[in-house]
Parts: sequence; structure tokens; C-alpha cells
Amino acid sequence: MSKRVINFNPGPAALPLPVLEEIQEELLNYKGCGMSVLEISHRSDTFTSIIEDAEKRLRRLMGLNDDYTVLFLQGGASFQFAMIPMNLMHGDQVADYINTGTWSTKAIKEAQIQGKNVNVVASSEDKNFSYIPKDINFTRDAVYVHITSNNTIKGTQWAEFPDTGGVPIVSDMSSDILSRKIPVEKFGLIYAGAQKNLGPAGVTVVIIRKDLLELCADDLPTMLKYKTFAEKKSLFNTPPCFAIYVVQLVLKWLEETVGGVEKVEEINRQKAKILYDLIDSSDFYRGTAEPDSRSMMNVTFRLPTPELEAQFIEEAAANGLAGLKGHRSVGGCRASIYNATSLSAVQTLVDFMDSFAKKHR
Ligand SMILES: *Cc1c(COP(=O)(O)O)cnc(C)c1O
Repeated sequence: MSKRVINFNPGPAALPLPVLEEIQEELLNYKGCGMSVLEISHRSDTFTSIIEDAEKRLRRLMGLNDDYTVLFLQGGASFQFAMIPMNLMHGDQVADYINTGTWSTKAIKEAQIQGKNVNVVASSEDKNFSYIPKDINFTRDAVYVHITSNNTIKGTQWAEFPDTGGVPIVSDMSSDILSRKIPVEKFGLIYAGAQKNLGPAGVTVVIIRKDLLELCADDLPTMLKYKTFAEKKSLFNTPPCFAIYVVQLVLKWLEETVGGVEKVEEINRQKAKILYDLIDSSDFYRGTAEPDSRSMMNVTFRLPTPELEAQFIEEAAANGLAGLKGHRSVGGCRASIYNATSLSAVQTLVDFMDSFAKKHR
């Protein structure tokens, strides 16, 4: 492969090209400090300004006020499945969980392993997780309601967030953070592994409302407590410095080059629309998610036969369109079109899909 391809990988996923170029440019000597950003202390002024700038930009982009604490942690979103109930649920307190796919199922399991009082108030498992449940009866005194805002594998997304009667929502936003404007005030905790929409693998962003942070458990190992990282501004021990640096660059790109979340949301809506329009107008492709539950980030679809799907993925790759295979647990095809994927990249995919269908119908 002599040139870069269009990358539809689900995660780790495409990064903005200007960000990769900036990393390349300053990798050997970061802003004249004579060392690589890979080689400097996490306690240095240079790194302090990187992590502080990343936090400021994230706060501006998401509209976070001082009620929220921002943490840069390790362990991926999967680690949060365990850390959230460990910190937030005490004694026989109840938390509501909504099961919308693979990642929600794992989150539920991690709370149950700890013997926590988990109430699965809704699930779309009956239809292979092809929709987002509606009309849910929440537990009035639950400590939180856990949802997965975008289901990366099943290709569904919460278009609107549920009215929980004031119970804070805890959301896994790994695959749609900063892809659209959200009503932050509904959320008690937001978490996201960076490798889809924020940067590279290795750092997990956790945004926690301070009143919930205050209620977090104290009788836990130091490294498992949110309070440890909140008190030390994510620098209790060595953080994933390089990943945080790349996140800072991605946030700068989103703010300064793209023009912010409202702008990227507009582009994301157009991207998803042209793909779904093609799928809907075709008798060759079939979307797997119910239309009112479709994801703007992960577009899942089938072709008439598994053989054609294999051929589609192979021919697409030969044409410089990579990463279109569905998750190994569901098969089919999936185009992951996160913030870093441009409208013209998606148009190229749409054109390829159109001509593939005409050839093989
Ligand atoms: C990718 C993904 C995860 C897993 O993230 P890790 O960082 O690998 O633990 C969890 N939840 C969602 C919604 C994801 O898309």
C-alpha cells in the first residue's frame, strides 16, 4: 500500500490527518524543549500545559461547568464497567441498567460480579439489539441509570436521552462522545475509551459530577477510587502521557479546524444520511438497525448472502476502503464514520456501494 486508504475501522479508528502530521512534525523535539513528548516527565511544565489544555478544550466543547470533574484514566471503557458500580453503589442501593448490546451486557455483568443490586429495566435483546427501548419504568430511588449512548457493534444509538425522573444518567459514550450536542445536565457520569472519537487507545476520559464524586466509596484500593485521581488532577501516578497529548491535538482540531461540536454534528448527520439513503433506496443492501434507532457513527448493513459480503469487503479494500467488516459476533458489514471521517470519504463509499450493487444484483 503506497498511499493512505479511507479508514472505516471501528476502533482504534481513523485520526484526523492534520493531527497525525502535527505529531510527526514535533515528535523528535516538542516545541523546542529538546526532547520528544514521549520522553518528558508527567510532572514537567510542558506536560502540565498539555493535560490542562486538553481538559479546557474538552470542557468548552462539551459545555461542562464547574459541577463536573474531568479525569484521564487507563484501563479502557471496560475498566469503567467495574469501577462505576464499585465507587457509586453502596450496600443494597439499586442501579438501573438498560441492555442495548454487547457493551451494555458487559457493564451489567461487571456490576453483578460485585454482588451489586442491578435492575435491568429494559433490554432490546428480544430483537437482537436492533432497537433502543422506549417507555421504560425507572426505579425511583436508583443511584444511577446506566446506558450505552451508541452501540458500536449493533449500530444503534439513543437519539434522545430518557427522562429518568431526575436520576443521573451514567453513559458509556466511547463511540459517540463529541459527535453531537448533548444535554450534559442529565448526566452524572460520562465515560469513553479514546480510541474511537477522541484519539488513540490507552486513555479513558471520565467526566463525573462533583456531588456524585463526593459520595464515592473510600474503602477501596487507591487505584480503584475516582477520588484518588480527582484529588491529583489525573496525576496520582504516571498517566498515559502520549495518548493524552494526541487527545489534546484532536480536541484542538475539532475546535479550531472543524469549528466545534455543532459543526461536526451537522457533518455527521449528512454522512449518516447519504449512507442510509443509499441503503434504503436499494433492494441489495439491508440495514440491520430499526430506522428510528440508527447510529450516526456505526452504520451496520447486510448484503443478500455471506459470500457477497465477503466479496464486498475484499473489493472495497482493494479500492482503498478499509475496515468494513462487521464485528465478529454479528457478521455482515459496518462502516464506522466517526468525527475524523469526512463527508467526501463517505461519499466515496456510497459511490462504491452503488456500483457494487449494480454489478452483482
Ligand atoms: C469499544 C467500546 C468499548 C470497549 O472499550 P475498551 O476501551 O476496549 O475497553 C466499550 N463500550 C463501547 C460503547 C465501545 O464502543
